[in-house]
Amino acid sequence: MNEYLTRVINDVEKKNPNEPEFIQAVKEVLCSVEKILDKHPEYKEKAILERMVEPERIITFRVPWVNDKGEVIVNRGFRVQFSSLIGPYKGGLRFHPSVNQSIMKFLGFEQIFKNALTGLPIGGAKGGSDFDPKGKSDNEIMRFCQSFMTELYRHIGQDVDVPAGDIGVGGREIGYLFGQYKRIRNAYEGGVLTGKAISYGGSLARTEATGYGLIFYTREMLKAHDKSLINKTVTISGSGNVAIYACEKAVGYGAKVVAMSDSNGCIYDENGIDLPLIKQIKEVERGRIKEYLNKHPEAKYIEKTGEDSPIWEIKTDIALPCATQNELTLNSAKKLVENGVIAVAEGANMPCTQEATDYLLEHGVLVGPAKAANAGGVATSAIEMTQNSIRYYYSFEEVEKKLDNIMTNIFKTCKENAEEYGCAGNYVAGANIAAFKKLAEAMCAQGIV
Ligand code: NDP
Repeated sequence: MNEYLTRVINDVEKKNPNEPEFIQAVKEVLCSVEKILDKHPEYKEKAILERMVEPERIITFRVPWVNDKGEVIVNRGFRVQFSSLIGPYKGGLRFHPSVNQSIMKFLGFEQIFKNALTGLPIGGAKGGSDFDPKGKSDNEIMRFCQSFMTELYRHIGQDVDVPAGDIGVGGREIGYLFGQYKRIRNAYEGGVLTGKAISYGGSLARTEATGYGLIFYTREMLKAHDKSLINKTVTISGSGNVAIYACEKAVGYGAKVVAMSDSNGCIYDENGIDLPLIKQIKEVERGRIKEYLNKHPEAKYIEKTGEDSPIWEIKTDIALPCATQNELTLNSAKKLVENGVIAVAEGANMPCTQEATDYLLEHGVLVGPAKAANAGGVATSAIEMTQNSIRYYYSFEEVEKKLDNIMTNIFKTCKENAEEYGCAGNYVAGANIAAFKKLAEAMCAQGIV
């Protein structure tokens, strides 16, 4: 391996010893760009890699709030402002008990490359808290969001840093966060958060965007190999925002989604998933996926007992991991290949372990990497920012058309870059190469900052 590359990877491992997810994300990107470094020896002199792997700023803060029993709870808040190279910091907020600095940094790092691929002027960031929204009352969620924003507000702004949703942060949480920001700032800065409701500045089709975008990308990837979604079976992990709208669009293209999951287990319905029921359970009642059986006793529920998610044992043509990082392991990849999977497209961020990705690629499976395949969410967030700036709204159809064009272009970029750098068909490498080229060029242009 290129000596410069090896040194930077070793340094990242030494400097961030307790951050396995961050190291994993860095290695995946850097190992794809060796040929670019060979072509550009000046990148070493300019310390392009060292600067790319070091966040511009990490903010950590206390989030105290009072629960319904009157007890004081203290959570930890984060905002990793990773890169403002090509636009204001941009990336979601995650509320989940697993949140720590490693997860925030890996997500922020991925976000820089993803945002570069969209072709839109947005930098990379991520934030969140180890707060667990499960089982909390609406009032508790509101009090937590208000306390979180009471610190975060001083670090964000519509031209500075624009957060959005992620795991555990949907329309309800964005509403509470926006209300508190507006109150503190005494100004209506609509573009400071995206994922807002339509009634106060949100974009039509933002809710659907990540899931729909994933299917547009999958459609293009299949098309490039003379395949399509028609009559294919699909399994989708998760049953949150990304999973639900991926399911909706996949069915729209003639596929049959037979399984979905949550962190406790998965349901298998050979007749095709009843999506309105999933929406009712997950979006309205905020319940568990197991409750699907109350209305469809003929379906099967498989509880998650070990490390590996049972959903990947189900025979499928297309697998869409849409829950969380490292949810699709080498064992799961082997099972999918054994069962004849043709494509895996990542709706979640880094859902496949590195070993799983390598195994799938070695066995000729088409892999749509997260930073390309799930970029539709942030791209539509940028379209929401545009609408807020020009004080105008696009119709659902207009936004969906823009999203479709963006995803089609992202796939084309991944394909062309993979071909140019001698790894045709490897869209994981193609995405990393394309994004890195753009960012390195911008870094050179802006001097040593
Ligand atoms: P939601 O909170 O809406 O849904 C998350 C889903 O994943 C739930 O079904 C949840 O199950 C499951 N899940 C979460 N954590 C785990 C875990 N540790 N193990 C197993 N299952 C888990 O989140 P989103 O749909 O918004 O996000 C899903 C993924 O997509 C994340 O990786 C996110 O970073 C990524 N993403 C999201 C975007 C967006 O626009 N929302 C944009 C781009 C990427 P349970 O209810 O049991 O916790």
